[in-house]
Amino acid sequence: MTPENIGWVYQLKKKMLVAIVNLLLLCGLIAVVSVFVLLPKALLKNTEQMTHELSETILMTLRHLMMTHEQGAMQSIFDALSNDKDTISSAFIINNKGRIIYSTDPTEVGTTLDRFKEASCLICHKSKDKPPSKKTLIVKNINGEKVSRNVSIILNDTICHGCHAKETVINGKIIIDRPLKHTESIINRVEIIIIGLGLVCLMIVIVSLTKVINKYIFEIFKQHHEISLLYSMMERLSKTIDVDELKVITIDIIRETVKADMVIIVLPRQNRQYRAYTKEVGKNRLIRVNLQHNEQLVGLINKWHDGTLIDLRMSKDKKEIYMNISKDDRIFALLVCQKYIGNFSAEMHGIVSAISRHFVIAFENAYLYNIAITDELSGLYTQRHFRHIIEREFDKLPLYSDGITLIMIDIDNFKKVNDTYGHVVGDMAIEGVATCIRGAIRDNDMPFRYGGEEFAVLLSATDIERGYAIAQRIREEVEKAVFEDGTLSLKTTVSVGVANCPKDADSVRGLIVKADNALYEAKRSGKNVVIKA
Ligand code: GH3
Ligand code: MG
Ligand code: MG
Repeated sequence: MTPENIGWVYQLKKKMLVAIVNLLLLCGLIAVVSVFVLLPKALLKNTEQMTHELSETILMTLRHLMMTHEQGAMQSIFDALSNDKDTISSAFIINNKGRIIYSTDPTEVGTTLDRFKEASCLICHKSKDKPPSKKTLIVKNINGEKVSRNVSIILNDTICHGCHAKETVINGKIIIDRPLKHTESIINRVEIIIIGLGLVCLMIVIVSLTKVINKYIFEIFKQHHEISLLYSMMERLSKTIDVDELKVITIDIIRETVKADMVIIVLPRQNRQYRAYTKEVGKNRLIRVNLQHNEQLVGLINKWHDGTLIDLRMSKDKKEIYMNISKDDRIFALLVCQKYIGNFSAEMHGIVSAISRHFVIAFENAYLYNIAITDELSGLYTQRHFRHIIEREFDKLPLYSDGITLIMIDIDNFKKVNDTYGHVVGDMAIEGVATCIRGAIRDNDMPFRYGGEEFAVLLSATDIERGYAIAQRIREEVEKAVFEDGTLSLKTTVSVGVANCPKDADSVRGLIVKADNALYEAKRSGKNVVIKA
């Protein structure tokens, strides 16, 4: 999975988070603005009301005292008020001439207030025509302090006439200022709490959202990874129907998929025999593995031969996965994945099972293709396949420092066998020689039935001397073999020609001609011999 392929997921995550955060910020902003505007208003209104009520109470007491001329008691009320700075910041009475007659600040007593000059009066008395419209006012910043001011008018009303003559004018004002420090500190605290809570909520929402989004992204990545893995695997598998290539590709794919430290492919042979191979990373050659010492695996292989092994299983310690690549009663391969460090994760099951189904299809195709390229009588590859393989090997020639060696084999005096015993016995001899050839060559060498009783073996990355030794082995194997069909036993020999490219020829045709000439030379020199070109 490349970063370019998954970049869009990151972009989507970024966009989603930005959109959600913006939305939350907008909601937060609306909430904060509402609280910041409405809450102070409500609290200030409440304070105003309380100031008014407090003033009314004080006023009633003062009125009573004024009417009973208890000036000493009035003064002591003002002294008491001046001591309670938290509730009252200032209180004073002015008479109808504007002179202060009682005050919580004794220095003010006797002074005259000019409502158009005094800072505390100016806030409401901005113009001569407009008196303050409300009884209780929020008066801002008098001497650096915010206060709620209540102004009550003392009139010459009926209640006063018991003590004062109607003609006596009692007209003045009592002004009480209540400090707003307390209210403001409540407002500030509430605002801080709201901002703090908002930020905490925002953080919680972002963190949990990120977690949820990450979970989905992880799921998308996982599925994307599985799909791209399956896709690339199918692409690789579809490129070949050649069994040998398939073995290599299969090991590579499964190693990458399950991140195995070691992958072994076990392939069936005749009579419950098998061969196990592995390969190094980056190399295309298979390496034989001996499993005899691994009793557990040998037991599994026996089950596999019996057709009783389940398709996919993991060892108890989660260090091995076994994949049975089989269909109906045909077993194609057994894949063993091993982990040296750590364990296989149980989540692998789904993808491994999907891969396993593709392996079955690929092996089945290869099996059918193998039938098509295999000669029925000898079990060796056909001449048509020989043409295909030799061309392919020539393309790889630059990779082989020892070149390619071709061995051509022809049964000696075969006409006589046919003439003496008939074609059925002749066929048995062809089959027998093919078995000798298979037994004498190495795993990577490829044997073909080139013509009627002629065979070829293609040895990649093999020099002439090594090729010659293998040819000798083939000749010897045939020489000592006895072919039997129950009624008769037959012995035969072969003549063999060996040629190497680039040593003897530099083209496909040239190499075949040189090997063929060497074979002809072997026939001429008395048969049952190997001749080098
Ligand atoms: P030489 O030692 O010189 O090779 O002598 P030879 O008798 O083997 O001669 P040659 O290689 O030319 O023989 C080819 C014979 O192989 C001719 C044909 O009857 C026989 N033959 C070809 N294909 C088959 C086959 O599929 N089955 C049988 N039984 N015989 C075959
Ligand atoms: Mg012949
Ligand atoms: Mg012959």
